[in-house]
Amino acid sequence: MSLSSDRLEATIAAIATPPGAGGIGIIRISGPLAPAILSRIFRPRQTAALRNESLDLQSHRLYYGWVVDPDHGTPIDEVLAVCMRAPHTYTREEVVEIQCHGGYAALREILSLVFRAGARPADPGEFTQRAFLNGRIDLTRAEAVLDLIQARTGAGLRLASAQLRGGLHDRVAAIRDRLVAMLAVIEVAIDFPEDEGEILRNDEMLADLEKEVAAPVRELIAMADRGAIFREGISAVILGRPNVGKSSLLNTLLREERALVTEIPGTTRDTIEEYVDIKGLPVRLVDTAGIREAGGAVEELGIQRARAKQAEADLILFMVDGSQPLSPEDHRLYDSIRHRNASGKVLVVINKADLAVPNVSQEVGKALPGEEVVVVSAKAGTGIDQLEEAIFAIMTGDGGPVEDDTAGAPNLRHRAALVKALDAVALAAGTLARDASPDLVAPDLVAPDLVAPDLVAMDLRGALDHLGDIVGVTTAEDVLEMIFERFCIGK
Ligand code: GDP
Repeated sequence: MSLSSDRLEATIAAIATPPGAGGIGIIRISGPLAPAILSRIFRPRQTAALRNESLDLQSHRLYYGWVVDPDHGTPIDEVLAVCMRAPHTYTREEVVEIQCHGGYAALREILSLVFRAGARPADPGEFTQRAFLNGRIDLTRAEAVLDLIQARTGAGLRLASAQLRGGLHDRVAAIRDRLVAMLAVIEVAIDFPEDEGEILRNDEMLADLEKEVAAPVRELIAMADRGAIFREGISAVILGRPNVGKSSLLNTLLREERALVTEIPGTTRDTIEEYVDIKGLPVRLVDTAGIREAGGAVEELGIQRARAKQAEADLILFMVDGSQPLSPEDHRLYDSIRHRNASGKVLVVINKADLAVPNVSQEVGKALPGEEVVVVSAKAGTGIDQLEEAIFAIMTGDGGPVEDDTAGAPNLRHRAALVKALDAVALAAGTLARDASPDLVAPDLVAPDLVAPDLVAMDLRGALDHLGDIVGVTTAEDVLEMIFERFCIGK
């Protein structure tokens, strides 16, 4: 795949809806031939749309009719078709969408007519890539499209849509504007070193650099860190000796979800990992309860698998039975958790609150000092809200409600570029600070002139490029390809 401009000349087509039989399926076509292809295969019911045998459809208007095999005149499917004229389209090119009955055979048949009429199959993400290459959206917005498709919770969705509205782009663009303005001043100083009117004060530049570039970049990095868990989700594993109620808790946490997900194939209960939405946080719950067959090799294997899950988990829910005192087995298990992961996140869940002995949380708190304790009844469903609060709080820290962040959540790629930009800014600041150091200049010179403007300019230009990578103005072609390959075909 190459991003060169001749690539944009082809007309591309794909099925835009997910595979499988649905109520309707959509075929999307983009490129210069799109309207002609529609003319060839579509017969609108309204003959007013037919003029001199060729189609004359209004832009952005839905037409009812039939897709017909142009060579044999055979009707294929009853459809709704829309022709959207450039540049007011998703890709900024001529775009046609055909909504047909969602069966795979009909979609495939129509798509092959579209290919015969001159389109070629679209690569994954190619529609969005064209929207980017044709300048309709910047790279952060293109990536937001992917996040929007992949979001698992409402919070993830809101972050992605903030990014799609341009929140991240605008912040990065504002920082770049500041850098460009600073560079302009420095470059004047390089070109006209003796120009008294343009004397640069290092202390002012240092302060500007910190306030208008470094601080906002650091803020975006912090947002990336807070937002990451809403995008990627976290994994939590419930550990505890047999019969403390691990499966019961999993089922209770899943109960609400179940009602929502039973329609989706492949989410049957026999998998040992399930996603739950905890206050907007996608939590992958790993159930180790299913792997405790008694005795011998199977149990050994089960323990190994449980250990592996535990090592991968972001959070361990260590469950004990509140109707009994802690047993030596509880202690052994707890010690093994803490031994493996001294600083890891652990929540102690005391179950069976309905049967609990008095003062159980104080007792457990004393036995496992320093651990946060939540009391629940998996069976009666009590304490579940508090448990969810505690999981959310321990995982998001003091991050506050990320959902309010209007810039969305910078992803790992953005974060890496932000860190590089910050490094470059730090180098520039280092040069400025050395220039300003009283060791090097006369002490009575509070704000000496810039001694090495070219060095500072070079580092600021580096920072500018790294920020440019985020929005897509300086991004290398192979990186662009990697980004768009992650999309599905038809998007
Ligand atoms: P696991 O082995 O840790 O997965 O435990 P289970 O979830 O299979 O539960 C063991 C037993 O404890 C079952 O009989 C559950 O019905 C019971 N149980 C689980 N949670 C509670 C609870 O909150 N209260 C009471 N009274 N019983 C519970």
